Amino acid sequence: MSTPNIVELYGVTKAFGALTVLHDIDLGIREGEILTLLGPSGCGKTTLMRIIAGFEATTHGRVTIKGSDVSYLPPDKRPVNMVFQRYALFPHLDVFDNVAFGLRLKKWPKERVREAVQHMLHLVQLDDYGSRWIHELSGGQAQRVALARALVNAPSVLLLDEPLAALDLKIRHHMLAELKRIHQETGTTFIYVTHDQDEATILSDRIVLMNKGCIEQIGTPEEMYAHPGSLFCARFLGETN
Ligand code: ADP
Repeated sequence: MSTPNIVELYGVTKAFGALTVLHDIDLGIREGEILTLLGPSGCGKTTLMRIIAGFEATTHGRVTIKGSDVSYLPPDKRPVNMVFQRYALFPHLDVFDNVAFGLRLKKWPKERVREAVQHMLHLVQLDDYGSRWIHELSGGQAQRVALARALVNAPSVLLLDEPLAALDLKIRHHMLAELKRIHQETGTTFIYVTHDQDEATILSDRIVLMNKGCIEQIGTPEEMYAHPGSLFCARFLGETN
């Protein structure tokens, strides 16, 4: 039996004024997979991700997560969290308080907060970093804190928007392996945005290749490289960075 879809997009179209940036997108995202939205800058990846997160409304069409329409769910009831390229951590809080922030807003008891944060800092291999300030961290460490913060309340779906783009190449490769490990350990569904075909290939169970607001092809990395469905796919996947 195939894995059920946790996220479903039905005819998602998005226009900003006269400019239509997403055209009638249908897509099912399977529970527990790492699905990457890949494509050149400006093709609509971030807009699609923001729509899945419920940050942006569709012009037509709808998105469901676990069967519920995201646009009807209040923000604190949406089972998704997001990690950004620039980490978006709070500079005036230490590492522990950054990870604990959302749990305290939800009024979790102190002891549960402590346990959950310590568990997450262990998952991202920052056990001894709780009392460090954000400016004391390297880029890779800051992104680990952002991951811990996004995973601490066990979302069903984690959206990652070019999370490694600000890191240098060596750290990027290490963080890709770390992301795979964290994905395996948590079982969370990852939806990953990148314009980098190497990142997509290393990380993904399936790749969605986008071009000008449309889906060009969906497949495993092996399928995409063995059978590119169009000249655009062949050219884009063949490019070197
Ligand atoms: P990508 O993530 O693939 O680089 P984006 O989703 O950021 O692409 O952008 C897709 C298109 O939508 C671009 O032409 C961009 O300029 C446009 N766009 C994105 N957000 C807005 C906005 N808030 N207002 C107007 N145009 C936007």
